[in-house]
Amino acid sequence: MAKPKVFVFAPADPTGNAHKMLEDAGCELILGKANWDTPQGNNEDEMAKMATGCDALMGTSIRSSPITQKILQASKNLRIVAKFTIGVDDVDVDAATEMGILVTHGPTESNWGGVAEGTITNMLTLLKKTRERDRYLKTTSGWRDMKLQGTFVGHREEDGYPGITLGIIGLGRIGSRVAKLMRPWGMKMIGYDPYVPDSKFQQFGVERAKDLSTLLKQSDVVTLHVVLTKETRHIINAETLAMMKKTAILVNTSRGYCVDEKALIDALQNNKIAGAALDVFENEPIAADSPFRKMDDRVLISPHMVSSNYGSGLKTGLLWGTQSVIAALKGEVSPYVYNTEVIDQWKSRFGGKSIL
Ligand code: NAD
Repeated sequence: MAKPKVFVFAPADPTGNAHKMLEDAGCELILGKANWDTPQGNNEDEMAKMATGCDALMGTSIRSSPITQKILQASKNLRIVAKFTIGVDDVDVDAATEMGILVTHGPTESNWGGVAEGTITNMLTLLKKTRERDRYLKTTSGWRDMKLQGTFVGHREEDGYPGITLGIIGLGRIGSRVAKLMRPWGMKMIGYDPYVPDSKFQQFGVERAKDLSTLLKQSDVVTLHVVLTKETRHIINAETLAMMKKTAILVNTSRGYCVDEKALIDALQNNKIAGAALDVFENEPIAADSPFRKMDDRVLISPHMVSSNYGSGLKTGLLWGTQSVIAALKGEVSPYVYNTEVIDQWKSRFGGKSIL
């Protein structure tokens, strides 16, 4: 029997352990170029050629050269596309599902927990004017300046100050971790996520908003934690920005395309909202002359690395991706499937049919 072929479209295995696991299991590996996960252009044709006849594709994020329908169609045997990271917006998941192919991903706590911590850090940095206070002392000979006052976040018993309202859009792994971490601060938390039950809102102390516009109208901070889908693409746009309070800030650590950047830039430049903290952008990296790079302290930007912390990295995601590939080649379904609706169809094609 010929060896199963695995196309590693964006290799990210510094130790070589994952590749060795696959080779030891009897796979032939075809490696994509080391720089394909960086923004260096689109390699669809070359990738489709390399994917021809493959049983599995795996790799890290590859946004500039996504796994398109053409690449998926390059092999009739294709069982699985295994991503090492949480996001699968660089895979045509709809096409994969239609073709009966599993898409798996790596929702590791170091990644989603890191995003939650980074989201809160960015939110508090804006609310507490941390950068401004520091810079004021380092660049002037001044001391206290009332312009440097921050925002008290939680409610206060003694004078009835109600605290601010945090609006969480998307109460999945990251959104609910943000709620769990912020709960002791005593702020009001409201959430919008039509796909999770009331019990989850209750579990994390989040009040369910009637609809998105209610959340936008009531929140002092709006934080986005949705997956990027047709429905959530530009969920924040000129119309929804207009529903926000003029004093509110927007935090986006989800995906750049969840926000209509043109509309956001207009809202910031014309004081329609008070500020924004952005880790993700429609096009990454942002251009050298991006208006975001020139904005004042009302805007906090970071290079899509809000969850990048020492000791985190891809280690666990890489292991899960490799295990998912091995399982699929054995005719088994790993626990990390993203398009779970395909499982029955997949089982009827490959279930129990091992090629290892
Ligand atoms: P998740 O799947 O656990 O949660 C996403 C939530 O969004 C789900 O609860 C879902 O019901 C909800 N949702 C879907 N459509 C919605 C809609 N129209 N309105 C409101 N809610 C909706 O995902 P997660 O792991 O929490 O990740 C959330 C986001 O963070 C994703 O976009 C992911 O790509 C992104 N992310 C970013 C980084 C980074 O480095 N900045 C790292 C990891 C993940």
